[in-house]
Amino acid sequence: MDTKKFDIPADKAEALVEVVRFIGGQNWSPATGGNYSLRLDNFHCLITQSSKDKRNLQTSDLMVCNFNNQALDPTLKPSAETALHTKLYQLDSEIGCVLHTHSVPATVLSRSVSEQVRIHGFEMQKALYGNTSHTETVCVSVFDNNQDIPALAKEVERKWQQGNINQPGLLVRGHGLYAWGRDVFEARRHVEGFEFLFSCLWQERLAGGMLL
Ligand SMILES: [Zn+2]
Repeated sequence: MDTKKFDIPADKAEALVEVVRFIGGQNWSPATGGNYSLRLDNFHCLITQSSKDKRNLQTSDLMVCNFNNQALDPTLKPSAETALHTKLYQLDSEIGCVLHTHSVPATVLSRSVSEQVRIHGFEMQKALYGNTSHTETVCVSVFDNNQDIPALAKEVERKWQQGNINQPGLLVRGHGLYAWGRDVFEARRHVEGFEFLFSCLWQERLAGGMLL
C-alpha cells in the first residue's frame, strides 16, 4: 500500500465538487450512482466515494486512489468503477478528469445500438474536442455492461489501442456515459455536449423520425 500522504489542492477538490453538484442537479447521477475523478499526478487521482448524494457532494466525500485502485486512506473502500477511471488516466497522460454519469438518455440510447452511437448533423458536436463541423460524424463506442470492471477496463484498453475510441467519451450499455477532458472544465463541456446530443437522438426516435 502506498502510504504517501497527499496535500489535496483545495482548488482542485472544489472544482470537482462543483461539477459533480451540477451533474447531480441535472439528474444525470440519481440514487447516488456515478463517480467522478481528476488526476493528481501520474500515479494518483482524486475520486468521489461511493454512495454519496451527488447533488450535495462535499469535499470530504472525495478520496485519493492510486492507479492500482487502492485508497491511500485504508479506512476507505474505492468504488469498483474506479478501475475504469484509472485505466483511462493510464491510457492517455493528457486526460485530467473523468466524469461518469448515469443519465436516462445515455442509458436508453446505449441499449438501442450494437457497437456505436453515430451522431451527425448537430451543431453541438462542436462541443466535443476535435470536432469542428456538424457535417462530420461522431461515433461513440458502446461496451456491454460488466460487473467485472477490470475486465471491462481491459476491453476499453483493447479498443483504445486499436484506435476505435476517438471521441472523449464512451457508453456502457444500459448503464451510462464515461466522458473525459484535459481538465474539469473540458470534461464538463463534454458531458454537457454528449448528454444534449443523446437527448436529441432519443427524442427524435420517440417522434418516430417525424422531425427529420
Ligand atoms: Zn456506473
